[in-house]
Amino acid sequence: MPGESLRFLNRAAVAACLSKLDAAEVVARTLREHTLGRTELPAEGYLSWSNSVGAYSRAIAMLGAVPSGDAMAYGMKLINASVSNPQRGLERAGGLSFTFDSETARPSVVAEAGLLSAVRTAAYTVVSLRHLGPESFDAVSLIGTGTLARVHLEAIVEAFPAVRRAYVFDLEPARARAFRENFRARRPDLEVSVVAGARQAAGAAPVLITATTSNDPYIPAGWPAAGSFVAHVSLDDLTEDAFRSAEAIFVDDVELVRDNPRRVMGRLLQEGSLTTVDEPGRPDARVIDGSLGEVLIGRRAAQRPQQGYVISNPFGMAVLDVALIHAVAQVARATGAGQLLELL
Ligand code: NAD
Repeated sequence: MPGESLRFLNRAAVAACLSKLDAAEVVARTLREHTLGRTELPAEGYLSWSNSVGAYSRAIAMLGAVPSGDAMAYGMKLINASVSNPQRGLERAGGLSFTFDSETARPSVVAEAGLLSAVRTAAYTVVSLRHLGPESFDAVSLIGTGTLARVHLEAIVEAFPAVRRAYVFDLEPARARAFRENFRARRPDLEVSVVAGARQAAGAAPVLITATTSNDPYIPAGWPAAGSFVAHVSLDDLTEDAFRSAEAIFVDDVELVRDNPRRVMGRLLQEGSLTTVDEPGRPDARVIDGSLGEVLIGRRAAQRPQQGYVISNPFGMAVLDVALIHAVAQVARATGAGQLLELL
């Protein structure tokens, strides 16, 4: 029997490969393919429990297939998290991303997923800002200053060089201060200010990113600044009233959002307070304007904020993770990055 091996990429190897590719371009291409029905996105596997200190802990298995040339590329992200991890000095979320060999179906690349997952999510925000954000902006606000906030700010500053200021708030002031010091050391050209509350953060800049672990929506319609874009990355920050009053609402995949009533937008869709343009809903239901993929293929008009605010609610699609790990794997093979592990 021939031996079997797989390539293992730790975070440093993943970061080196990511630096050689354009994650936003991978995300935009995959959103188009998904909207044109060329991807496969099975239901996610989800398992949750409480750990010994009573903290919410969970595992999510996200399989997907995306076009790659004339064939399909298969893979999975296993992303686990426990909300008590930061108290242990660990990142909240971590896991592994896989590519599968399309002939043998064996996992061929296994990579540290925490960075990949954050980079794909931030790349989605960058693409949504390019199409649905304010025409120009030089400041952003972030509520929550963990991993997702850090990777978002890095990606936004890179993609939008006019951004010079960031306003941040975290329920844990020490985390917000550490976030500011981290950027001060690495990006002295960027002015990061810690503000006194979520309300101040929400109103401070024309781009607001929520990256908290909130389970209780707390941002009402009156908080986002006029002419602003809200990337509702953490999915449970905006209230029903904030959705109803938005100038426009865009999602990544309406069925994924609807399938999860634990998140505010899924609940509103299941209750009928939100609906889609294709469905007859309750007369008072707020219609979702479309998906970012529909905007990218020209099926729906892009809407940038005018007097009010535009919401982007990205549930998080496995196909984006699979596309990104395949792009990383290609770079790894070409550059010899990572370690070959002998399985048999
Ligand atoms: P993290 O634990 O590293 O950071 C979250 C931070 O938010 C913490 O510092 C915490 O103190 C702070 N916080 C919690 N509640 C808050 C509140 N009400 N106001 C202000 N600050 C608050 O988490 P992370 O890894 O950065 O992830 C952030 C969120 O992003 C999570 O909810 C995660 O599920 C979500 N996420 C979404 C997607 C997506 O595709 N939509 C992808 C990845 C992660």
